[in-house]
Amino acid sequence: MNRDPQICTRCIMDRTVPGIRFDSEGVCSYCTEYLELCKHVLDVSAEQKEAKLREFIDKVKRAGRGKTYDCVVGVSGGVDSSWVLVRAVELGLRPLAVHMDNGWNSELAQHNIAALVQSLGVDLFTHVIDWEEYRNLMQAFFDADVIDVELLYDNAALAVNYAQAAKYGVKYILAGNNSATEGMRMPEGWNWLKFDKKNIKAIAKRFTRTRIRTFPAIGTFDFFRFRFVNGIRWTPVLDLMPYNKEHVLGELQRRFGYKPYPYKHYESIFTRFYQGYILPTKFNVDKRKLHLGTLVASGQMTRALALADLARLPYSSEMQLQEDRQYFLKKMGWSEAALENYLARKEVPHDAYPTERPLWLRCERTYKAIRASAGGR
Ligand SMILES: [Zn+2]
Repeated sequence: MNRDPQICTRCIMDRTVPGIRFDSEGVCSYCTEYLELCKHVLDVSAEQKEAKLREFIDKVKRAGRGKTYDCVVGVSGGVDSSWVLVRAVELGLRPLAVHMDNGWNSELAQHNIAALVQSLGVDLFTHVIDWEEYRNLMQAFFDADVIDVELLYDNAALAVNYAQAAKYGVKYILAGNNSATEGMRMPEGWNWLKFDKKNIKAIAKRFTRTRIRTFPAIGTFDFFRFRFVNGIRWTPVLDLMPYNKEHVLGELQRRFGYKPYPYKHYESIFTRFYQGYILPTKFNVDKRKLHLGTLVASGQMTRALALADLARLPYSSEMQLQEDRQYFLKKMGWSEAALENYLARKEVPHDAYPTERPLWLRCERTYKAIRASAGGR
């Protein structure tokens, strides 16, 4: 086995990433595609961005006239979504902050969210998920040996954000996803369609004896209903403004007493155990390659620094890893042997179980064709 896989000469993606190709200069297809697709965000002048942002803010304000809120901002406690909330308020919007608590929040995340909404004077809606039911669903995903255990959180969070927007007649959900820090395409097989309600239900049915009672799932048809009947748009608003993570983190710390996490998405204890331990150990996937690679390709981090970072343990310390491991075992009610057994088992693809991915892809194709024939982009 090649223990030193070829690494892209521009970013840090390597030969182990599914579907990667290298050109004659040793530059990979991931960063090349990213820089091409995100041109409209990365190569736009500050003035052009400012104009686009103004236009967008006016639209949100107009659509929200006479309503309690004019937008929903989903907050996780992470830097990206926290910054969206700050900017929304500064730009004169009236956001409702929405958070989904799945029982795995780190204390840091709780602290960050509370400090932020308090000093901004923003209403916060927190959906606290039924823990017993959620644990059963997680257990089912582990028993199913599928890779995207976070599909559960992401799907429920999407559902809760859309439901709150619909409840208040809000047309805009402002999201923290952005091209500058996470624009590089997720490699096929590293995650799964986040709107796959059918997959969640099928795996739950197969591996648990309990039915889904309160889990706020969202599927393809729900999404299209929210989008076209309720007219709700999901906008990656950070793409409309200059966005430098280092700078923003400093601002959040200075102005809101924000406490940083060592890596992206580490605001949840499960997420950091999943990304920092389960994914690399069981699935041979290190998502830091994607996150750090995007920062390098977009010029926010040097390649040398990213490679040095990548060489370290995907945890702030070995002690933290052991702490999280114990926390995970206790919270899931697992023994060490159960974890070892799970880690040793082979991965099963999501589509080995019933899935609505083909339906989603068909709907997406149809939607794109309609937009194209209507002269849209
Ligand atoms: Zn590359």
